[in-house]
Amino acid sequence: MSPETLTKTGTPFSIDRFDANVMTTYGRFPIALERGEGSRVWDTEGREYLDFVAGIATCTLGHAHPALIEAVTRQIQKLHHVSNLYYIPEQGELAAWLTQHSAGDRVFFCNSGAEANEGAIKLARKYAHDRLNIEDPVIVTAHASFHGRTLATITATGQPKYQKGFSPLVPGFVYAPYNDLAALETTIAEIDKDGRRVAAILLEALQGEGGVRPGDREYFQKIRQICDEKGILLILDEVQVGMGRSGKWWGYENLGIEPDIFTSAKGLGGGIPIGALLCKSSCDVFEPGNHASTFGGNPFACGVALAVCQTLERENLLENVQKRGEQLRNRLEAIATQYPSLVAEVRGWGLINGMELRADVELTSIEVVNAAIAQGVLLVPAGPKVVRFVPPLIVNEAEVDRACDAVEKALATLSPS
Ligand SMILES: *Cc1c(COP(=O)(O)O)cnc(C)c1O
Repeated sequence: MSPETLTKTGTPFSIDRFDANVMTTYGRFPIALERGEGSRVWDTEGREYLDFVAGIATCTLGHAHPALIEAVTRQIQKLHHVSNLYYIPEQGELAAWLTQHSAGDRVFFCNSGAEANEGAIKLARKYAHDRLNIEDPVIVTAHASFHGRTLATITATGQPKYQKGFSPLVPGFVYAPYNDLAALETTIAEIDKDGRRVAAILLEALQGEGGVRPGDREYFQKIRQICDEKGILLILDEVQVGMGRSGKWWGYENLGIEPDIFTSAKGLGGGIPIGALLCKSSCDVFEPGNHASTFGGNPFACGVALAVCQTLERENLLENVQKRGEQLRNRLEAIATQYPSLVAEVRGWGLINGMELRADVELTSIEVVNAAIAQGVLLVPAGPKVVRFVPPLIVNEAEVDRACDAVEKALATLSPS
């Protein structure tokens, strides 16, 4: 065992010891990762994997990227945390970058996707109270959505499995099926009939956790129109699909619309925790004291996130995302054709892609992920029937090919014939 596999206390890594001390909130695959470089990671046994999970769509620059190392080192030596009692130059610079590269005019920084969505929910409610005189504002969200694990965001999440056991949930949320305009219109009409009012519609431009389901252009364009007509805020959760993963900076650019409010987190810091809530200046109803976060917008996270943004731009990585995404989808389509009895569909944008397994076979996404791990590739389920591919945005052509070769072999081991 190499010295790297020893913890600080000199104890070799042990899954049993880990499980004895860490709450079992996660179903973990039985490998422990300790080192990474580019699109590759190594486990404590020294085995190498191609990382097509990237910390679930966070490590946009991959692992140990020189620009990330430089930014982390520089910022920790200079200043890592103060307080929002004072002006923080890095926070201002990152906010300026974000507003220059998005539909947003104003930014609030926090630490995670759930926290950004909590902020969006609070902002929409305050807007409804202050500007629209709505007593009891309703936010409509979608079935199969995912917005986080806090109480308000599990309530916003239209999947009962995340809510089970945690009642009472937060009031004020109503659900409608995704990509179904008629159903959404009916839902809004029913809320109106009840004498309540819809303050906001909260959606993902592409549903990530819910099965890698891209938003339908026509559906979103019609929603934008409805929101404009009725004075409803359109909130987009860009936590997973935003920050370049779709091949454009923001998922909504694939839909030809702009939101009033949107959120970012996963890819924003390239794996360093940071979240952001953005809005048009017309929606910014927050006043001093309305919302806060101790760590939100600290010099460390903001300095690093700014370096990540600038690196994505300088290295022209959006183009890489588009090209590698197309290559990945083409290969996965070919694999789907090769295994029509297992694979139903391949879909996605840029470097967020899903391979849906056929409903009429017993094969689950976890079984495919396990088989891929055995072939040296890390993948992540997006629900019981969809395997998700979210590699670092720096992934190269040979790595995409190698990952697809491994998936092909993995499916061969699972195929009955
Ligand atoms: C991951 C995710 C979240 C939650 O982000 P956390 O950082 O885990 O709180 C919210 N929305 C979407 C779309 C996500 O993919």
